[in-house]
Amino acid sequence: MKIFGIDLGTTYSCIAFVNEYGAAEVVPNAESQTTTPSVVAFEEGGTVSVGDAAKETLNTDPDNVCSTIKRQMGKRDFTFYAFDQEYTPEAISAIILKKIAKDAGEALGEEVKDVVITCPAYFGLEEREATKKAGIAAGLNVLAILNEPTAAAISYGIKTEEPQTVMVYDLGGGTFDVTIIKVENNSIRVVATGGDHMMGGKDWDEKISSYVIEQSCQANGESVDSVYADNELMGDLELKSEKAKKQLSQKDSVKVKFNGETVEISRSQFDQFTSDLLESTITKTHETMLEAEKKGVDHYDKILLVGGSTRMPQVDARLKQEFPNIPVEFCDPDQSVAKGAAMYGLNMAAFAEFSEKDNNGDGPTITKEEQEELRRNVFFGTGSQAKPITIKNVISQCIAVKLICEDNKEHIVNQIFKNTEIPCEHVLHAGTHMANQTTVAIEIFENASTDEYVDEDLCKALVDGELGPLPSGLPAGAPIDVVFKIDENGLLSIDAEHKPSGAVKHLEVNLQNALSQEELQEEIAKVNALHI
Ligand code: ADP
Ligand code: MG
Repeated sequence: MKIFGIDLGTTYSCIAFVNEYGAAEVVPNAESQTTTPSVVAFEEGGTVSVGDAAKETLNTDPDNVCSTIKRQMGKRDFTFYAFDQEYTPEAISAIILKKIAKDAGEALGEEVKDVVITCPAYFGLEEREATKKAGIAAGLNVLAILNEPTAAAISYGIKTEEPQTVMVYDLGGGTFDVTIIKVENNSIRVVATGGDHMMGGKDWDEKISSYVIEQSCQANGESVDSVYADNELMGDLELKSEKAKKQLSQKDSVKVKFNGETVEISRSQFDQFTSDLLESTITKTHETMLEAEKKGVDHYDKILLVGGSTRMPQVDARLKQEFPNIPVEFCDPDQSVAKGAAMYGLNMAAFAEFSEKDNNGDGPTITKEEQEELRRNVFFGTGSQAKPITIKNVISQCIAVKLICEDNKEHIVNQIFKNTEIPCEHVLHAGTHMANQTTVAIEIFENASTDEYVDEDLCKALVDGELGPLPSGLPAGAPIDVVFKIDENGLLSIDAEHKPSGAVKHLEVNLQNALSQEELQEEIAKVNALHI
């Protein structure tokens, strides 16, 4: 029996397991590639293709191709429409997971069942829930949803004899994530996360596309606008630009044939017209370091480069220039996340009684005997010396409450700031606004601001509740406590209380965007009806 780690990436996905020698190993897909494009193409008659085949249809049938679905995870207002059927982000992700699991299962001659799926550290509760549901919809038993940078660190083999502070710089295809983690005493803790969720290798591709369009139009006199309006031509260029970019990681110049013209691009030109993108990753890196500094991080033992786009030579060079005193190391750019997830999954299964409660996992489908067997291959120590890895997390969003402040106006005031270590508890001592108040409105919000007072437009409502009835005849300023509790999985619960009368209201955050059980069943039926 094996436990698998799946890196469900924005642009590429990867699956790995820990082999009998205790080494993490990636399983190639049916096309013999170690990573599979996270692209789904629908065809007439309920057939879908995933991966390279799907990507290639970008230039023939771009409207039925769905890519970068990860950006839509946890959103309710997004569905992909193809051949009279609507698909949620969970369903599209499930299709990708099914293909990856099926291929790996066939390659190994063993069904893929127990998995750990990774997600970015900044993913909020809803996105994590959606990722888990995608796994369930794909017929998988999801042991845990693990942060990608944590997985990369595990895979890098960070040992715990000496405490270390590591920055994981992950430049993928559709996102840029920078995460600062601390490793000590068998525990891996995320200290701060940042980055840009809408930037990645695709933006570098687009810069190449713009350059090629500009140059080719100059040469053949065609209008730039008409090229941009041609979906098939643009789909074709998207593929060519990515290929050209990858070649530029190896060669000093490339030629792109497009729309009857040949456009040559040198590496230094490429570096120049994309330097604003690279610079913005440096700015974001500094912002995240500043957050970590507030939490006591004053030095770094290393910078780990993760994500396919860190293969662009300018990335490594720029980081070394910016941080001359920190060693910059490559961490198996496209495979480390899946491998680390597999190692973690193995660890979880081997120590099921320890780790289940930490990860809200469903528990592996293994027996006690199999567990004993697994303990031989765990990451920290072996046999009876084996120790579980513990993972500590921070919340990725601030939690705020609406209060009437001293200026007599309503304000949304942050109570727990993002990057606070979880589990945590916070008590707000507030009071009633007026005399004879019999109820108190409790409105709780989530936001990514770093300020104490936050604009409502920047907030997402989590709870709209009420404490009451309170005894009659209370004066203004009667004490109301609001207790915020966040558990190790990031689940928030709130108790509002008027202690003297014993009035208590327990409020649960409802994940408004999560699929209900029935909805999930519908998505499963849709996915199962497809021929993948
Ligand atoms: P994600 O996790 O966001 O899906 P990955 O970490 O798998 O992304 O990285 C995918 C990105 O890396 C794509 O934009 C791809 O074009 C880019 N990439 C892969 N190999 C290279 C290379 N040799 N040179 C430059 N970019 C590369
Ligand atoms: Mg990635």
